[in-house]
Amino acid sequence: MKNYAIAIHGGAGTLVKGMMTPDLEAKYKSALKEALDSGYKVLEKGESAIDAVEEAVRLLEDSHLFNAGKGSVFTAQGTHEMDAAIMDGKTLNAGAVSLITGIKNPVSLARDVMEKSEHVFLAGEGAMQFADKLNYKLEDAAYFYDEFRHQQWLEIKDTDNFQLDHSVKKDSKFGTVGAVACDKNGNVAAATSTGGMTNKKWGRVGDSPMIGAGNYANNKTCAVSCTGSGEFFIRAVVAYDVAMLMEHKGMSLQEASEEVINKRIIEINGDGGLIAVDAQGNMAMPFNTEGMYRACKSSRGKEEISIYK
Ligand code: ASP
Repeated sequence: MKNYAIAIHGGAGTLVKGMMTPDLEAKYKSALKEALDSGYKVLEKGESAIDAVEEAVRLLEDSHLFNAGKGSVFTAQGTHEMDAAIMDGKTLNAGAVSLITGIKNPVSLARDVMEKSEHVFLAGEGAMQFADKLNYKLEDAAYFYDEFRHQQWLEIKDTDNFQLDHSVKKDSKFGTVGAVACDKNGNVAAATSTGGMTNKKWGRVGDSPMIGAGNYANNKTCAVSCTGSGEFFIRAVVAYDVAMLMEHKGMSLQEASEEVINKRIIEINGDGGLIAVDAQGNMAMPFNTEGMYRACKSSRGKEEISIYK
């Protein structure tokens, strides 16, 4: 039996350290732990990495603390538009959705695109028709409402500003969510889900649902889920770049992840972080922001739940 491991993130846009209360910190850590443990249990039972990442991301989507599913940020129209992707490193199958509304667990719709359609990426109205065909139940706006995020939006709603979690230096609670896992058979998988950025408009889509940018998995190298300033992560094709540095330059998972987050993305002024796992169950969780909600657990006995450096 091989080593198995899972890592999750709740976004690289954490509360500035001075503003985090012990109570809030405990809440974040307990939400992370719940998602981590439940994803880990899937691996422990011998089930697949793809099942484990979907399970962990669903739980993070169900928490209002993170900017995905329930806690998604507000768009310029006062709505919620969510993006998600999932990828199986064994088959290189992938599914993604973008600009969807009312769906409780976007990651599961992305998985359905992967498994129940001929396509990889469905967006907007068409993605919603696909969900309807599969009898997805839609949640109303009240389900996604969060007082804190509403305030965040009210502050900038009549301006041309949009707010990426990571650019805010005052109180901000956000965080795209993601999970990567390696199962007992050495198969890896990645999943990422987000509400994007506050006050976004024009059908803005970030890196999270884009295969190769915010999310990627390949048994040959690794599985990666990103969080950060999406525009930069798209241009740097971050998740795929980590895999390519391993494949073509022979870097370890840690070296490749650090190279991308602490060098390449910084060179183009991008900020954020990523979580990654390889087919041996090694994990890396680098970030170049003040903090990143993150957690990991492996069959070798490693366990970590952290927010700051
Ligand atoms: N990467 C996400 C986006 O640009 C945001 C985030 O990670 O918080 O949509």
